[in-house]
Amino acid sequence: MPDAPKQPSSAPEADNPHRTFDGQEEGHVPTFPVPERNLGKDGYPAPFVQGGLDGWKEEWKKSVGDQGDEWWRKAAEDNLYWHRPFTTVRAGGFENGDTQWFPEGGLNVSYNCLDRHAYANPDKTAIIYEADEPGQAREISYAELLRETCRIANVLKGWGVKKGDTVSIYLPMTWHAAAAFLACARIGAIHSTVFAGFSAESLRDRVQDCECRVLITSDEGKRGGKTIATKAIVDSALKECPLVEKVLVLQRTGNEVPMEKGRDFWWHEEAPKVPSYCAPEIMNSEDPLFILYTSGSTGKPKGVVHASGGYILGALMTVKYVFDVHPEDRFACMADVGWITGHTYIVYGPLALGVTTTFFESTPVYPNAGRYWDFVDEHKITQFYTAPTAIRLLRRLGEEHVKTHNLSTLRVIGSVGEPINPEAWHWYNDNVGRGKATIVDTYWMTETGSIHVTPIPGVTPTKPGSATFPFFGVDVEILDPNTGAVLEGGDVEGVLACKKPWPSLARTVYKDHARYLDTYMKPYPGYFFYGDAAARDNDGYIWIKGRVDDVINVSGHRMSTAEVESALLMFSGVAENAVVGTADDLTGQAVHAFVCMKEESDYSKAPEKEAELKKALGIQVRKVIGPFAAPKKIYIVRDLPKTRSGKIVRRALRKIASGEGDQLGDLSTISDPSIVEHIMEAVKKA
Ligand code: AMP
Repeated sequence: MPDAPKQPSSAPEADNPHRTFDGQEEGHVPTFPVPERNLGKDGYPAPFVQGGLDGWKEEWKKSVGDQGDEWWRKAAEDNLYWHRPFTTVRAGGFENGDTQWFPEGGLNVSYNCLDRHAYANPDKTAIIYEADEPGQAREISYAELLRETCRIANVLKGWGVKKGDTVSIYLPMTWHAAAAFLACARIGAIHSTVFAGFSAESLRDRVQDCECRVLITSDEGKRGGKTIATKAIVDSALKECPLVEKVLVLQRTGNEVPMEKGRDFWWHEEAPKVPSYCAPEIMNSEDPLFILYTSGSTGKPKGVVHASGGYILGALMTVKYVFDVHPEDRFACMADVGWITGHTYIVYGPLALGVTTTFFESTPVYPNAGRYWDFVDEHKITQFYTAPTAIRLLRRLGEEHVKTHNLSTLRVIGSVGEPINPEAWHWYNDNVGRGKATIVDTYWMTETGSIHVTPIPGVTPTKPGSATFPFFGVDVEILDPNTGAVLEGGDVEGVLACKKPWPSLARTVYKDHARYLDTYMKPYPGYFFYGDAAARDNDGYIWIKGRVDDVINVSGHRMSTAEVESALLMFSGVAENAVVGTADDLTGQAVHAFVCMKEESDYSKAPEKEAELKKALGIQVRKVIGPFAAPKKIYIVRDLPKTRSGKIVRRALRKIASGEGDQLGDLSTISDPSIVEHIMEAVKKA
């Protein structure tokens, strides 16, 4: 890494020449100095990392240098409770995909997240549960969360769930999800949580893949005033999951839902029948903690596996340092618990650190666009973590919804899931942080387990749109995508890769270690490959440019084009189709689908039914994957642009869908160029 920038003076904005956010041209991007609030002035706590950027840099160098393992040894010993101490810090490496952290160590993640805090401070609020309807918030103490977790652990044990077994979780955003996760961790079961916005078919595939016998769900969910038929989706999924013997059903709404005798049991009936204490199973540090499915370049989702000791350490350390979280803080991550951000920054990280976390069940706009800010003021939230898509939505709805709020408790406001565009960054900074809170633009992914590139409050001057510098222990390089050569210095662009294993690295893809090696370790031997393009400017700041594979990111939801294509292909009469992602003002990227129907299809014979067909295709994607994957635009076309060898030229489709049909470049590889004209017409018409 080139030398980090010097700390700017207290001038509100220092103008630095370097690349703009999209990397297209040289420009002037302002650097924002560290807000005073993050330096411990005016009654706010002093930051954990002292000595400004120079102090941080020294510490960072230790964490990635020859003494890097010692840095992590100290972190693990100081911050976690080990039932059995470890001697080795790290073993194995990227090449064989056999990285281990603290291998002889024994610990229990739920003990680290609950017992040690519940004994020290039983009444401390573990979770603020902000229910969908305003005014129905509830605080759950560490003692209560420990009891509920133990009861669910005992229910699972009673059902024969043992260490190493898998349990699927399909729950809405109620605090009980934390008890479900931690109950699994307590007895050494591996949870596989499926985001409750996934369809029955997606849930079925994930339940089948992880081969669980038990699933935890709810009667219904609530979100933005709407009721979601959670149990009905589970019932439909389980028709093709013969291994599932028992379903634990949380009562969220109390509306009547069918319960299958002998299989389905109510949470509120089973929990009181068992003791409220369950001794934690001592796990090996490398034992799996959970599986989380995520999208890759192919249609089949990957079950990313995280190990106990390394993961919980990465989660805890990033909550502490990236958000500068102190014991009395009230940390609020607005993600859904079904994604990695929810796992690490709603459940595991804050609870391991023993602070107060949040389950926010609603949406940013229910009942109005002031909901987040009412919530921040009412609960005196100190760190607030959301996604650019929510910021863009609120920006669109106007400042009047945020202006009337106090928001002075906020010290750090975070962004995650996709690159944050400077307009959204400025809006967030001006209206939410009011120039007094640090924006941490945090880059990471399911496979990293915890944040990798990020500013540090009290330390890093920020630049709108840049995730700035790597976290402790994370040593990233920018590589030439074709040769794999390291691109040194400033003003370079290539693909991002990591040089050294970190504790919360995913250890494998469930039942498919070869895929793990192929995806992350083999593209650039000796490195972990993230799958993202990135640039480094002349000040050493890192700018994430987005995926280089066929993964699209819609509102921070990651999906592969192949997944959407295979959902469309299942629709009767579809001959072939191609899906591309285009830039979108609100959702970051949007799905565009080009669909060719078979000649014999009813729709091909009746072109006047095109609107009906498009609607049906949209429903098809919602049904197979989930509503979040629905294409923004569907174009019915007679053929797709292909090379002579039959490969679809997605580059051309992406350009056309983005309204850049006049910049298609060299089309000589396309076997029938007239198709391009035809597709441009179809897009224009749509
Ligand atoms: P997921 O595994 O679902 O969390 O998605 C990870 C992907 O989201 C990454 O590979 C990036 O493409 C994108 N991403 C996450 N956070 C950021 C960020 N702060 N800036 C840019 N892209 C991000």
